[in-house]
Amino acid sequence: MNIYDEFFKGISPEDWEFFAADFLGAKGCVIESPPARGADGGKDMIVSFQGKRYIVSCKHFIKSGKSVAEKDESSFLERTKQHKANGFIGFYSTVVSQTLQDRLKGCEDNSFEYIIFDRNSISDYLPNMSCFILQKYGLPSPESFYYLNVPESEYQPLPCMECGKDILSDEMITLSMAGIAQDDNGRLHYIFGCKPCIGAYCDYYWLDHLQALYIEQLISWDRCIQDYLDNEDLHDSFWRNYFQHRSALMQRLYPSHLGLYPTALIQW
Ligand SMILES: [Zn+2]
Repeated sequence: MNIYDEFFKGISPEDWEFFAADFLGAKGCVIESPPARGADGGKDMIVSFQGKRYIVSCKHFIKSGKSVAEKDESSFLERTKQHKANGFIGFYSTVVSQTLQDRLKGCEDNSFEYIIFDRNSISDYLPNMSCFILQKYGLPSPESFYYLNVPESEYQPLPCMECGKDILSDEMITLSMAGIAQDDNGRLHYIFGCKPCIGAYCDYYWLDHLQALYIEQLISWDRCIQDYLDNEDLHDSFWRNYFQHRSALMQRLYPSHLGLYPTALIQW
């Protein structure tokens, strides 16, 4: 059982082609001729990658679960030549049959190459794609609700250091942050709270909580702190606050398979 099976099943056959276009676009392909909506279902999508042109064939057999067979791709070589392409990309929500695999392999030469993205390889790439693409095709939109990784009865609020409001509540996550502030003696403090309460003190690095809910963003944040704090004078409470913030935040992190934060920037 693949955790994305339900996700794949929720994509209509028509949208599967658009998903393929977004997926290949995210992997660096240029879409030369996009999938066509409507009656002309047989039209191939054309993409280019590193100077080569490929025709893309999308097969969405996830509901029946059957593999893509030779008869499903009987004319791949003719279509590739017809479009003056260098190769063929199969984009499949199931797997490829051995006979088709063998036939593709048999045709491989200087003027024809092929790449297969199947259920397994597509799944491998999904956690590294933007959550915007994934939610467009049915994964829950991170902005529409927040996760709770612990039972509700065990949830521990994180009070704003200034006003005491729980800054990890659904209402406050988007309005709160953590950051590093310097006191009059030059010592650094790790602080967290509502943006209006603490925003003005975060003269150094700061982390928006909406961003902090993505694990890869949290990793960047840690690296930032690690690089920055070398040789700095830290207040005694620095690491205690850091860990209080971190353990509370972990309660609300998004599962990594929902994709990446839309931009890869930590702001400061
Ligand atoms: Zn506050």
